[in-house]
Order: sequence, then structure tokens, then C-alpha cells
Amino acid sequence: MRAYISVDLEGINGVCHSSQTQPGEPGYERSIKLMHQETNAVIEGLVKAGCTDILVNDSHWDMRNLRIEQLHPKAHLTSGWQKPFSMVSGVHAAEKPDFACFIGYHARSGCATGVLSHTYRAQVFRDVRINDVLVGETGLNAYLAGAFGVPIALITGDDALAKECTELMGEVSCVVVKQAVSRYSACFKPQEEVLKHLEDCARIAAINKKGWNLLKPPAPAKLTITLADTSMADACELIPNVKRLNDRDVEFEDQDYKVVFRVMLALGALGASRKDPFFS
Ligand SMILES: [Zn+2]
Repeated sequence: MRAYISVDLEGINGVCHSSQTQPGEPGYERSIKLMHQETNAVIEGLVKAGCTDILVNDSHWDMRNLRIEQLHPKAHLTSGWQKPFSMVSGVHAAEKPDFACFIGYHARSGCATGVLSHTYRAQVFRDVRINDVLVGETGLNAYLAGAFGVPIALITGDDALAKECTELMGEVSCVVVKQAVSRYSACFKPQEEVLKHLEDCARIAAINKKGWNLLKPPAPAKLTITLADTSMADACELIPNVKRLNDRDVEFEDQDYKVVFRVMLALGALGASRKDPFFS
């Protein structure tokens, strides 16, 4: 069996503030240690289930957080940025994974009860919608995996994320590693218990094919983004076929969700180029 794992940081147990997720900040090294622990617990479960080919995609910030020498010896690691499909680069590989796992994920931007809630670009994207439904990174990424025919077997993060996943995807295996209190507060579960649970759930998820969730993207897919700042919308509407709806909202539609996803990444990069260090 071939498994694909995308790992983010904000949904890892023990992490509840943005400073803990930033390289160079005092809490960062500890967070990375916890990120490795959860990832390795999941990999151990997958190995026990018979997975022989495991690809981990570092999906947080500059995507250079996980260290190959600290990762489970059976896993391959894609590190760094830029890569074609960002957080889900690798699901499009010629040797298609049988399923994907999203580890350390978090709730969408605007979710008041989600720890460190945001959607891709925290300072650029206020709201992201696909066909008028609010989505977070999980939805955007699960649709992309679905476009390549790869189902989601396991998602981990806080309870707000689990709720978001169920609402968008229906039945899907979610492991809640911490309870959200607010955007910057969480109740952490005992770490040993969490790691054991992650290993067990990953093993079961890999074996239980019936529980895999293939989230097919809509066709056509319409992307609507509310930007943090009108100057970001000014920049985004320069792209052909991106429509300016009003002061802050832009829209793009295509039959092929893979195109929509890449335009979402491009709009994020373009919007970020308009961040004003003094006036926001
Ligand atoms: Zn994220």
C-alpha cells in the first residue's frame, strides 16, 4: 500500500499560538519536536497496517520544518517550497497513493473556535469559498486529492476541525488531539495517550478501505476569495478571468478544479505582495 501524508503544524497537540509556529521564535523548536512525534506515530500505524511506500509532505509555512533524520525510518520526505500543489504536492505523482492523511490540520479562517484558524494565507485570505461554501485548507486540499482520485483516510487536529470536516465531507476518520477553547487557546490531551491513539487510528484507517472518503470537486468549480485588504483585490483582478465582485471579493471559475486550486495559490502569492507593514 502507498500512503501520502500532508503535515501542518497549527493542529498539533501542545500548540496554540502563532508564535509557536514561526521559525526563529522561542516556542518553535518544541513545536517541531511535537510535529515529529505525531507524524511518526501515524507512520508507525501505517507501517503496521502494511504500507510499504510512505511519502510525507511538509505543509507548514516555508515547508522546511520536518527533518529527515528525525522522521520514521520508513518515510520519504518532500521538504521546501515552491512545489506544484503546495500542501498537497505529491498526491499528483504518477505512482498514485492509495490514500492521503492530513496531520496537524486546523479549522478554516473565520472559525472563532478553531485553534490558529486560517486558510492558506492568514494575512491575505479572509474567507475562501468553493461554489459559495466556506472552505478551509482541509476542504481545498481534499478536493485536490479527489481531483486526482486519491481518497482521504485520516485527518487530525482540534475538535473545530473535526466538525468542519464532517460538515463538508460527511463520514471521515478524524482524530481530535486537543480541544479548542478559542483561536489562541486549547485544552491539550495527555501526549502519550494522543500518540498511542494516533498510531491505532492510522493503522485502522489504512486497513478500513470502506472508511476512505473520496471528495470529488464540483465541475465547474467557482472560487470566491474575500481578501484582507482592497489593495490585494486590486492586484488579484489583474489576472485574466479573475473577476472583481466588490471592494474585497474576487472570483474565478473553471471546469477543472486543479486549475482553480493553482489560481488560488497564485492569488495568495500576489495578494501577499501587497502586504503593507505600516498600514494594516
Ligand atoms: Zn495551515
